[in-house]
Amino acid sequence: MEISLLVISYLFASVTFILGLKMLSNPATARKGNLIAALGMGIAIVATIFLYEEEGVKLGNYAWIFGGLIIGTITGTLAAKKVKMTAMPQMVSLFNGMGGACAALISIVEFNHLMHGAANGEASFYATLSSSTLLVILAGLIIGSVSFSGSMIAWGKLDGRLKDFSFKGQHIVNMIFLLTALSLTAFILVTKPEEMALYFFIVLILSLLYGIFFVMPIGGADMPVVISLLNSFTGVAAACGGFLYDNKAMLTGGILVGAAGTLLTILMCRAMNRSLTNVLIGSFGASSVPGVAADGKQQGQYKEISLSDTAVLLAYSSKVMIVPGYGLAVAQAQHVCHELEKLLEEKGVEVNYAIHPVAGRMPGHMNVLLAEADVSYDKLQEMEQANEAFPSTDAVLILGANDVVNPAAKTDPASPIYGMPVLDVELARHVIVNKRSMKPGYAGIENDLFFQPKTSMLFGDAKKVLQDLVTEIKSL
Ligand code: NDP
Repeated sequence: MEISLLVISYLFASVTFILGLKMLSNPATARKGNLIAALGMGIAIVATIFLYEEEGVKLGNYAWIFGGLIIGTITGTLAAKKVKMTAMPQMVSLFNGMGGACAALISIVEFNHLMHGAANGEASFYATLSSSTLLVILAGLIIGSVSFSGSMIAWGKLDGRLKDFSFKGQHIVNMIFLLTALSLTAFILVTKPEEMALYFFIVLILSLLYGIFFVMPIGGADMPVVISLLNSFTGVAAACGGFLYDNKAMLTGGILVGAAGTLLTILMCRAMNRSLTNVLIGSFGASSVPGVAADGKQQGQYKEISLSDTAVLLAYSSKVMIVPGYGLAVAQAQHVCHELEKLLEEKGVEVNYAIHPVAGRMPGHMNVLLAEADVSYDKLQEMEQANEAFPSTDAVLILGANDVVNPAAKTDPASPIYGMPVLDVELARHVIVNKRSMKPGYAGIENDLFFQPKTSMLFGDAKKVLQDLVTEIKSL
């Protein structure tokens, strides 16, 4: 009876994971989707704690289990509440690393059980484990350890605690770590039980080292792609745990995370028009000299616009498109941006937002940021829709975006971003660019748009500039 209730709760949890994931694909339902999946996970955890039993024995160890649950819940809640929007990628990385560590720990614990059973000559469950079970344990160990150490390095780099590090021949050293770990895995499967432990721990160390050296050289801003990849590793490692315990909820959850992480990695690479290999071993971002284009051509002069002229231009336009970018997130200017939008709408201006798929530093960064400020979802236009709207737009207001509006992606085959789909802002009547200086964005290249006749630069921190613009428009 209890077991069947357990199975039903796992089935219920699996359904909530799928439903939650589906709802995450739309900003309007994402929050609810997340809660539904979390509820399913909560039910699966509680059901396992109280209903799971093996040979009539329940889990027990309640003080340890609830102690861990309480510490984890408090830490997670505080971290999630305190984190700034711009620090999201490092938090995702940290949480992902914990998932990888859990999967690796499951493998270590289960390997110990296996060894213990074998040493005692027990005909217990563990002593009779097949080599396919051992293979799953080893797979969970390798993938989970790589995900853990890689995510920790990613967290350190994104948080500014670690610098990129690489040396000549690093990729070869990485390959040696990985191939040795895989060869030892094959060896463990055929060797005597008393020799297994030593090789098992060598595989663990090699996997941890591989994770560190794999992530160390990757450029800071390519980290979201790497995190997404590591996230899919954690999913696969968790699925190994699901196989091991024949736990359907863990298996479904792991497979969904693995598949979603892989798809996200592919989509991000596609939106930047770069292959995964290029992200992992190539470097994005050449050295950049202000005033010099990616092809080495000297740029012309840029012109500036004053706050009052910007206010007049926006207030007397009939269609305005706001293009948010990474700088908007850094400045935390989403709320005042929404205020500007409402103010312009009150004056009869139609205001929309053009959302580039990789604007910012993580997938959906702009959607999350604007949702936080209560911007209506139907004001957010995806790139294709926005590109159709630009020719009939009077003024485009670019707020801390750079690469995603760089026309070199369409016109300059020598540019590192050539081929990346970009927003065709130059098709609008006027383009106003707000940023603090003429410094390049993430790709490290000049932007020809800033020097075009219809473009005007409005320098300053996005939040301060928007606050002043709001005051200026109110006084018109
Ligand atoms: P960019 O990094 O190209 O440009 C951001 C601009 O914001 C900078 O040029 C900076 O100029 C300006 N800025 C910074 N702080 C402020 C501030 N306080 N106020 C006003 N402006 C500010 O960002 P985009 O969003 O245009 O492009 C995203 C880039 O990130 C793309 O190259 C994309 O490929 C990459 N990327 C995105 C991922 C994703 O999933 N979204 C993942 C990995 C990479 P200044 O210093 O002069 O102010």
